[in-house]
Amino acid sequence: MEVYSLVMHQNTGQGISSLSNTQLEDVIAEIEQAIEWHQLWYKNLLRCLIADTPANEQDLSDNAHNLCRFGQWFNKLPEQTLNLHPYFSEIASAHQKMHQGAKVLLSLKESNSAIPVNLLDQFHTDLDSLRDYFEAINDELCELLHTRDPLTGATNRTNLVENLQKEHELCKRKSLSCALIMIDLDHFKQVNDEFGHGAGDKVLIALVKCIKSHLREYDQLYRYGGEEFLVCLPQTELEGAKSFSERLRAGIAALKIEIGNDKHIYVTGSFGVALINADDDIEAAIERADQAMYQAKKSGRNRVFVA
Ligand code: GH3
Ligand code: MG
Ligand code: MG
Repeated sequence: MEVYSLVMHQNTGQGISSLSNTQLEDVIAEIEQAIEWHQLWYKNLLRCLIADTPANEQDLSDNAHNLCRFGQWFNKLPEQTLNLHPYFSEIASAHQKMHQGAKVLLSLKESNSAIPVNLLDQFHTDLDSLRDYFEAINDELCELLHTRDPLTGATNRTNLVENLQKEHELCKRKSLSCALIMIDLDHFKQVNDEFGHGAGDKVLIALVKCIKSHLREYDQLYRYGGEEFLVCLPQTELEGAKSFSERLRAGIAALKIEIGNDKHIYVTGSFGVALINADDDIEAAIERADQAMYQAKKSGRNRVFVA
């Protein structure tokens, strides 16, 4: 089976990455329920084929795929959900094909004819294909849920080094640079101390929204630590990374953040920029961006420092 990945870009606003964590959990729960209905249907099919239980009328119909519990659920899925993943349309056809096969098996059984082994094998191949699509979607949804910071929706550190390694390899092949930017909020502890942890959380959420609005399709954003974020800009030279950081720094400083009760605050961030060199170790490049960020702190905060 060809493997698609819909998690591909963090910022396209399309596909499963556009879902919030709660929405992801809901879709996962729905799919698990649907799989359970499908399993029940399969068990019943075996009862009819192996034991002498009469076939369900609806399973003998040409429309069986629309009549089973799973089919009824599937047909009611909103367009928006179906558009989340290309495998949903594959599931529709795999499900229909599987029911056509089941209908043939049941009809043979009903007329007391022997079931040719190749028909049974084909049915199971179609059944496996349906299950593979399901599993692939569910795996992707679960992976996304586990690699995302629940507060801000930024990617967490789970696959950070692996992802950056891949990005670096791609850039190297094209003889292009890949830039890393470490961002740390200035005096963030004061925000918590003065306005409470809830206000601090709102700042982090607003910050991530602001950073994301500055990113291109292939750029990546990670929550590196509490109030530290790492941005990866593929195919970007130092000058580009510097001017991006300058724009983002100004954008953050100008951000009016609502913290409740009609109160607003402003925050700033310190930036460290580093390139991933051709034969670089990813951790070493992150360390350079981190060191540059500390230089930005030392030289007064709310500024960009290049390694
Ligand atoms: P500096 O300018 O030197 O970076 O000062 P700072 O106060 O930002 O740095 P410090 O490391 O002293 O404090 C970071 C604070 O970030 C402390 C911690 O409570 C807060 N923090 C980390 N994660 C979260 C979070 O998820 N929510 C909230 N509200 N605060 C957080
Ligand atoms: Mg800080
Ligand atoms: Mg910090």
